[in-house]
Amino acid sequence: MKKWIQPLRLIIQACFMAGLFLPLIHPEPVAGYLFWTVLAVGVFFCGWVCPFGAIQDWLGFLARKLHLPRFQIPWKYQRFLQLSRYIWAGLITFAGVHYAFLSARFYFQDNLIHNNLSWISGITLAVFLIASLFLDRPFCNYFCMKGAVDGLMSVIRPLSIRRDPKACIHCHLCNKVCPMNVPVEGTNFVRHPNCINCMKCVCACPQNCLKFKLMALRKSSSTK
Ligand code: SF4
Ligand code: SF4
Ligand code: SF4
Repeated sequence: MKKWIQPLRLIIQACFMAGLFLPLIHPEPVAGYLFWTVLAVGVFFCGWVCPFGAIQDWLGFLARKLHLPRFQIPWKYQRFLQLSRYIWAGLITFAGVHYAFLSARFYFQDNLIHNNLSWISGITLAVFLIASLFLDRPFCNYFCMKGAVDGLMSVIRPLSIRRDPKACIHCHLCNKVCPMNVPVEGTNFVRHPNCINCMKCVCACPQNCLKFKLMALRKSSSTK
């Protein structure tokens, strides 16, 4: 079990959260630097850098500590619901749609920090932050256009999380801890567009059978 990964991720997320206040390391240029790396290694920006992703993670952590009820949408609905962010991305790109709730990430990292919230952006942010107490990363899972675009680009990556099917005991822990509802247990090589490389599944696996590696040359199969 890799105990150092999540503390390191927390420190990096915290640095970029602080960077919103100290304009030394604003996340947007970092998003630009990491943009093409998703083709090779998947989406690290969302799991390690994005402050709006981080705040949703932290609220989820707080909710668990407070024993608030948490909801995980069953896979049979989730597989359709997770298409929503591509629909929003398509509407933004091709129909010029500009619903306030689709801009929550910018409201958080720009308007909130600079005390520049309108009542619409304030309500939008409040809804997503409260929803994060009950649902993992609600904005990332269902609304974020950047997450959708990066996720789609990442599906060809040759480096990602490999599951050793011989060592797996099908305890479902990897599926349960995944904040992006990726069916990790059902695949031998994670190239799901929702994966944000948070490594929670890797850290949770009791058999240590999930590793970040190059894809095996023989065919990797999906069973879900
Ligand atoms: S999906 Fe969007 S809001 Fe979520 S971490 Fe990625 S860029 Fe940030
Ligand atoms: S956590 Fe590990 S052992 Fe459990 S189902 Fe996932 S890959 Fe298999
Ligand atoms: S599959 Fe693993 S690394 Fe990817 S988002 Fe889920 S928990 Fe994080």
